[in-house]
Amino acid sequence: MGDKMPAVVNFGPEPFSVELREIEVPGIGENDVLLAVRAVGVCGSDLHQFTGKQSWKVNYPVVLGHEFSGIVAKTGRNVRRFKEGDRVVSETAAVVDESSPFFRQGLYNLDPNRLGFGYGVNGAMTRFVKVPERCLHGIPDGLSFRLAALTEPCCVAYNATCVNSRIQPGASVAIIGPGPIGLLCALTAKIAGAGHLVVIGIPADSKRLETAAKLGTDTVLGAQNENVPEWVKQFGDGYGLDLVIDAAGVSASLKVALDIVRPAGQITKVGWGPQPLNFSLDALVQKAVTLQGSYSHNWPIWERVIGLLASGRLNLDLILNRISPLTEWQEAFEEMHAGKIVKGVLEP
Ligand SMILES: [Zn+2]
Repeated sequence: MGDKMPAVVNFGPEPFSVELREIEVPGIGENDVLLAVRAVGVCGSDLHQFTGKQSWKVNYPVVLGHEFSGIVAKTGRNVRRFKEGDRVVSETAAVVDESSPFFRQGLYNLDPNRLGFGYGVNGAMTRFVKVPERCLHGIPDGLSFRLAALTEPCCVAYNATCVNSRIQPGASVAIIGPGPIGLLCALTAKIAGAGHLVVIGIPADSKRLETAAKLGTDTVLGAQNENVPEWVKQFGDGYGLDLVIDAAGVSASLKVALDIVRPAGQITKVGWGPQPLNFSLDALVQKAVTLQGSYSHNWPIWERVIGLLASGRLNLDLILNRISPLTEWQEAFEEMHAGKIVKGVLEP
């Protein structure tokens, strides 16, 4: 095409090295489609790159945005499953090694060498993005582009709660960290049949904890600096919760998880941060707790989440709080960073 288009570009490692720039519309290869972006979600990881606090390697300059939906505008010669005009969402693993053992297992999300949109290759905070056909999922007519763009974070939450955790109907579940992923974990835990649901934050999270309460959380803790282990001792038989999902962006929250998990219970850690821990793991041993990591998502998770979003069983009315044009990217980033909104979507 040779045309130019505006894009939200992260151009260097220094904090706040993000600006709207004119870039070329990308060319595509035989196995790619050119996707006309209709909606792109703002993710915590976009904010980390905005503030220069990410712990992953970024190929500067790079267009941000990995949560996106759109319309197929052009197809490469080998593309078979999609045609011009199809409504789609895209997975995030833009570059994978198809000979890697993880790809062969369907666990390309765990391949340490994969590259994702928005940090490894150009993402979707622009009008057109080059996407391998392999990444695409069709979306039903009744599912809006805005909601479809949030499939990705929903898949992160679904993987943590419904694939990597065991939730038997009625099981008590605590979620640490009421950020977007924590709140989506609350929604997916309820769909999975959770019994008493607790969401735990800190005073700075008070707005998000209010949202957690509106989503049907049974108990919300932390806005007033409540003593969480003391509350847990008064809950039920006092031995703790069956499952703790740690969605806080630090390692140290594992301490709280170990304090409140029930003997023989499970902790699933989906939030992460590079700071080291400084406490004993004796409780993990003594309580015979299963500690499980959860990272990203793969094909079957996407298909199930798209179905849950399309049917309305996974309802994001309280999660998606701001729709903005690309020119207002910075306001959307800042409101999300300040916790004023849970999730923002840009419409390029
Ligand atoms: Zn994301």
